[in-house]
Amino acid sequence: MSISTITVIGGGTMGNGIAHVAAQSGFMVTLVDVSEAATERAIKTITTNLERQVKKETITAEQMAEVLGRISTATDLEKGATGADLVIEAASERLEIKRQIFATLDRVCKPEAILASNTSSISITELAGGTSRADKFIGMHFFNPVPVMKLCEIIRGLATSDETYATIKSMAETMGKVPVEVQDYPGFISNRILMPMINEAVYCVMEGIASVEDIDTVMKLGMAHPMGPLTLADFIGLDVCLSIMEVLHTGLGDSKYRPCPLLRKMVAAGHLGRKTGKGFYSY
Ligand code: NAD
Repeated sequence: MSISTITVIGGGTMGNGIAHVAAQSGFMVTLVDVSEAATERAIKTITTNLERQVKKETITAEQMAEVLGRISTATDLEKGATGADLVIEAASERLEIKRQIFATLDRVCKPEAILASNTSSISITELAGGTSRADKFIGMHFFNPVPVMKLCEIIRGLATSDETYATIKSMAETMGKVPVEVQDYPGFISNRILMPMINEAVYCVMEGIASVEDIDTVMKLGMAHPMGPLTLADFIGLDVCLSIMEVLHTGLGDSKYRPCPLLRKMVAAGHLGRKTGKGFYSY
């Protein structure tokens, strides 16, 4: 199936990045958010990011205008999604919200349209099961910031067809991404490996093995990581880290994924990282 029009649901951190890259790759994009303020903020962010590209001379001012011209916004999901060949859902990470969105999309989208979710931790097979088109349902897991990060994990639900996978793989490549094929298991590849590493770093803090700064220094200088695990945890948000560890623990049933008690304590205290001004570091 060929794709020319895309609807992106959710205009937050990920949604605006996905809309930006899709429009820059030549697709017509409708960005839908329940909040009009969020769609306005999204267009502002996309404009600022495009202006930066113009300043760096990676695109011209004319190209910037063309990209913006390919993006429209809506607050009504039904109207915003009816004509789409592909819908990429990047709304808040809550199962009930996503379930409801996909039930509506399944009803209003044309039968051949593909439905994709950018979820970090919810099962693609489970979301697909709430629609009548599980064969046309897939995960497209982009990374933040979307215009910069090259990776896209493509997650196959139990019933995702080979045709849907091939279409989305080629679509991700058109968007300038490097697609990686992943089967639907908790955390996919990225969070299955990253989050236990962060969790282990938190155990090292809790057990007094070393200071926060020294743990980050070891991983930066010894393993050539661009940023230490505790700095990264503050950046991601400690609540998000905890919730993904819970998904791994519940979904895989292995005690090696138990969230560190110190991580729980910091989340309970509201020390969530950069977004609250305090996590392992102060901001
Ligand atoms: P965000 O909070 O920045 O944005 C979510 C947006 O969804 C908000 O603007 C909100 O108004 C909107 N929304 C909520 N309910 C909606 C509905 N019913 N219809 C339309 N819009 C709705 O969140 P985010 O960080 O952009 O994350 C979005 C998704 O991407 C989540 O599933 C998350 O797990 C995933 N993800 C996030 C990251 C990241 O680094 N932030 C990385 C990869 C994947």
